Amino acid sequence: MKIGFIGLGNMGGPMAANLAKAGHEVTGFDMAEVSIEGVPLAASAAEAATGAQVVITMLPNGQILRKVADEVIPAMEAGSVLLDCSTVDVDSARAVAEQAQSAGLSALDAPVSGGVGGAQGGTLTFMVGGDEAGFATAKELFDIMGQKAVHCGPSGNGQAAKICNNMILGATMIVTCEAFALADKLGLDRQAMFDVVSTSSGSSWSMNTYCPAPGVGPQSPADNDYQPGFAADLMLKDLRLAQEAAQSADADTPLGEAAMRLYAQFVEDEDGKGRDFSAMLPRFEKRGHSA
Ligand code: NAD
Repeated sequence: MKIGFIGLGNMGGPMAANLAKAGHEVTGFDMAEVSIEGVPLAASAAEAATGAQVVITMLPNGQILRKVADEVIPAMEAGSVLLDCSTVDVDSARAVAEQAQSAGLSALDAPVSGGVGGAQGGTLTFMVGGDEAGFATAKELFDIMGQKAVHCGPSGNGQAAKICNNMILGATMIVTCEAFALADKLGLDRQAMFDVVSTSSGSSWSMNTYCPAPGVGPQSPADNDYQPGFAADLMLKDLRLAQEAAQSADADTPLGEAAMRLYAQFVEDEDGKGRDFSAMLPRFEKRGHSA
């Protein structure tokens, strides 16, 4: 397939390289100077998009996505697919999809989970919103870049699935860390706490798979001095998107809001920037009841 790939950063770079390695003809573009194995670079986003059957974008936010969409949509041929894999606000995803559809294109929003390791290893999970025809065309690309693609419904639903999942994850990680800090103060051993909770009704991915306590449970960033993993800054981005969506859709999400505030404080006022999102545990350890 002829593919244009715009945004060749930490995620987009290895995703584009995997598509090229699998034999697709990939032309890339990034504002920054980058070099990706097997991916020749174009002089502009529009040039990378010209003649492509699928144009993939992997960009920092919705505002940039809208700008890039303005550049690439007029350069794309009717019937081709605009596939955005960035994590952006639901409103931008839906606006860009509408713009693409009016130009006779298919549009998919397909944010990912799996991080840089998943992008490099081709093991991402894609949560996809958009039409069936676009999904069918992109399916073989999802299979190269990832291990799973779930079609979640019409445009914007991929982003909706991503932020709902990460809102649950953020709140669950916080309360798991709180519970460990409380258990410490009650004299309950962390291993005993893990053994009980991981097999009881308080179990979760945060406890069972990504345990925030060092030396307890399977290997996780806690065992590597809380180096990310999944950085607290990125969790904050997703929690903010969830709150934007909640406001826009008039949904009541008090725990999601509290989680966003805590991660904002952790990243912007404390020492959370650049640390894994599970480093909330050492944060709580240092604090008292009304701190
Ligand atoms: P990144 O900052 O490494 O890459 C973004 C790239 O876009 C950069 O190379 C930048 O130069 C380029 N760019 C910015 N504006 C541009 C423009 N107008 N035209 C062309 N290129 C432009 O970010 P990343 O970590 O690769 O993340 C990309 C997206 O994936 C984000 O939406 C992020 O939330 C999401 N995501 C990241 C992770 C992760 O672990 N890094 C995990 C899941 C989802």
